Amino acid sequence: MMDFLSRELAEQKDKGLLRTLRRADALQGRAIVMDGRELLCFCSNNYLGLANHPDLIEAAKNALERWGVGAGASRLISGHTAEHEELEAELAAFERAEAALVFPTGYMANLGVISALVGKGDLVVGDKLNHASLIDGCRLSGARFRVYPHGRLDQLDRLLAGVPHRRALVVTDTVFSMDGDVARLRDIAEIAERRGAMVMIDEAHATGVLGPQGRGAAAAQDVEGRVLARVGTLSKALGALGGFVVGSKQLIDYLCNRARSFIYTTAPPPAVCAAARAGLRLAAESDDRRARLWRHTRRVLERAARLGLDTGASETPIIPIIVGDAERAVRFSRGLLERGVLAPAIRPPTVPNHTARIRLSLSAAHTDEDIDRLLAALADLA
Ligand SMILES: *Cc1c(COP(=O)(O)O)cnc(C)c1O
Repeated sequence: MMDFLSRELAEQKDKGLLRTLRRADALQGRAIVMDGRELLCFCSNNYLGLANHPDLIEAAKNALERWGVGAGASRLISGHTAEHEELEAELAAFERAEAALVFPTGYMANLGVISALVGKGDLVVGDKLNHASLIDGCRLSGARFRVYPHGRLDQLDRLLAGVPHRRALVVTDTVFSMDGDVARLRDIAEIAERRGAMVMIDEAHATGVLGPQGRGAAAAQDVEGRVLARVGTLSKALGALGGFVVGSKQLIDYLCNRARSFIYTTAPPPAVCAAARAGLRLAAESDDRRARLWRHTRRVLERAARLGLDTGASETPIIPIIVGDAERAVRFSRGLLERGVLAPAIRPPTVPNHTARIRLSLSAAHTDEDIDRLLAALADLA
């Protein structure tokens, strides 16, 4: 009966697609210790280097002592703490929205928001390269789900016009997580407005990174008021854990009643909320960190272009080196590892067939010397 387990694992292995877990013995933002070796880490989403900032640690410790570890139950059952309430107020203020709602993870925020907004009889349309959590939310919703080729907004328009529906929702990443390019939110908002569709965006890789004060791509493109729901994560640039959505007070009240991944799960621990509050405060003030992150980004993009490496359409600290087949990507990653650089190969099905790649993600925690070492390793292998 269980033959399929070993059979499928063997097949994955034959195709060079087997995933395995590795232990890291020290996490420092810029570097990581694995198998006793210190490696420069270019695979974390800790964009501003806040995950181990003393302010976050201090905030979490204080909250741990005050509130304990677990939140105990769903917020609708046992209530929430001041940490949850303040975090939501601060997120709403930061994002210039009426209200915010925090979820245990960004993944759960996406599942909850999409499946609350659309259902049977509705249409949900997304970019082909949307994050897995958005795709899963679209599937879970029970709405008719259509995909347009990456960035092809003419096709988005055609789908909204052509597929019958009650309500329609357009869903997109703002920074695409495997390519590092940015969605054209003004054009998307314009099409959605013309077709009477709602828009939900996922700012997971943009919060803290893009826009004034790191308020995200919607702020950078000045479309905050034209989007129904903006989802973000507390787990990347903000250095903690959790997901959030901001929008109108009415939207948040509705989600409290309809988002099943909010209702039927235990609230995030108060200490995690406290750390996220410290992360948010620092991120808003961290123009110096953002400037360093973008300086690193420009250096790597320019050097990669000169080396003839294919970085696709990246224009953010997520920089793919697209090499084509999965085994080649694995070899490239191993070559980097031999040179003390950790940057994993990303293979299908995470990315489309024949676009296997190394995915670099840069951090303000990296020093100029760290970037020098990365560039030297890339030059060696190019
Ligand atoms: C990481 C990520 C998420 C999930 O966020 P978590 O807080 O890690 O669950 C959602 N969307 C995108 C685009 C992401 O990159």
